[in-house]
Amino acid sequence: MFNDEIFDILFRLVPFGVYVVDVQKLEVVYSNDFYKNMNKTPGAKCWEEVYQDHRKCIFCKIGDLTNSEGKPTGEIVVYEHFNPSDDKWYQIQEQCVYWYDGRVVKVSISVDISKIKEMQNDLAEAHADLRLAHQELEKVALTDPLTHLFNRGKIDEVLKSELDRAKRYSMPLSIILLDMDHFKSVNDGHGHLAGDALLKTMANIISEHARQSDLVGRWGGEEFVILCPGTDLENAYNCAERIRECIEQTEFDTVGTKTASLGVSCYRDGDTEEELVRRADKALYRAKQAGRNRGKCEWPQVKTRKT
Ligand code: GH3
Ligand code: MG
Ligand code: MG
Repeated sequence: MFNDEIFDILFRLVPFGVYVVDVQKLEVVYSNDFYKNMNKTPGAKCWEEVYQDHRKCIFCKIGDLTNSEGKPTGEIVVYEHFNPSDDKWYQIQEQCVYWYDGRVVKVSISVDISKIKEMQNDLAEAHADLRLAHQELEKVALTDPLTHLFNRGKIDEVLKSELDRAKRYSMPLSIILLDMDHFKSVNDGHGHLAGDALLKTMANIISEHARQSDLVGRWGGEEFVILCPGTDLENAYNCAERIRECIEQTEFDTVGTKTASLGVSCYRDGDTEEELVRRADKALYRAKQAGRNRGKCEWPQVKTRKT
C-alpha cells in the first residue's frame, strides 16, 4: 500500500514524530527524522525504542486497532501520553494498516504538546487563583472586618429575600436587634481596643446562640441583628433571652460584666423590611427605657399565622 520512498520523503521533514511498528514482532520498521535514535538496535522492541522501557506498554492500542484475526479494523485512536523518558507530553494518533510488503503495522503520529499542557496548567492555576481572589473579595464585601459577621449590606439583602419568602409561603420571620448597654463607658474606661475586643467576643456569643438557619450580622457600632427565618415571635424572644442571659453571665476580659438590650419583631402580612425593623427598633427602645438588660417584643402584638 505504501511506497516507502514517497512515505520517507513526505515524513522526513514534518515537525512531528512518525513511526511504524510491526504488530507481530512489535519492532519498529520505520521512523522519521523526528525519532533520530530509533532503528539503531536490530531486534529491539517498540517499547525499548520509543519509551526506553523494558516492558510492553500497558496502554498499547494494537489490540484495539486489529480484529481477532489480527487484521486492521480501520479505526483511528487519539490519546495523550506523558513520556517519562524525555519528560514530555505527546498527543498520539494511531491506526493499523497494511504495510507495503503486506505486513500489518501500526502507524503512530506523535505531536509534542508539552507547551500546550504547560499553558493549560498555567491557565488552570491562574483560574484557581482568580477564583480564590474573587471569593476573598466577595467575603470582604459582605462581612464586617472587625467581627467577621455579615455586614449591614448583606443583612439588608437577605432580609429582603427572606421577607419575600415569608410572604410567598406564609412562613414566620422574626428579627432581633441587640444593642450593648452603656458601651460608651467601655471605650471611655478601658480604651477603644478593649471595646473592639468586647465586640468580637459579643459576635461569638451571639453566633453560638443563634440557630444554623439564623443570620447574624453587625447592624452598626455596638448593635447586632439576628434574622430568624421560620421563627415566630415567641421563639425569637426565647432566643433573645438566651443571648441576653449569656452576656449577663459572661466575665469579659478587661471590662468585666456587661449587659445588652434586645428588641424582637415578627413579620406581619404586608410588612416591608423597614416596617419590620422599625418595630424591632421600637421594642429595643422600650427595653432601654425599662432599665436595659432585657428583651422586649414589639407592641401591640398581632396574631400572626402559625405554620
Ligand atoms: P446605651 O445603653 O444607651 O446603648 O448606651 P451606649 O453607650 O451603648 O450608647 P451610645 O450610642 O451612646 O454609644 C455607643 C458607643 O459605641 C459609642 C461608640 O464610640 C461605640 N462604638 C461604635 N462602634 C464601635 C467600634 O467599632 N469599636 C469600639 N470600640 N466602639 C464602638
Ligand atoms: Mg447603639
Ligand atoms: Mg448601646
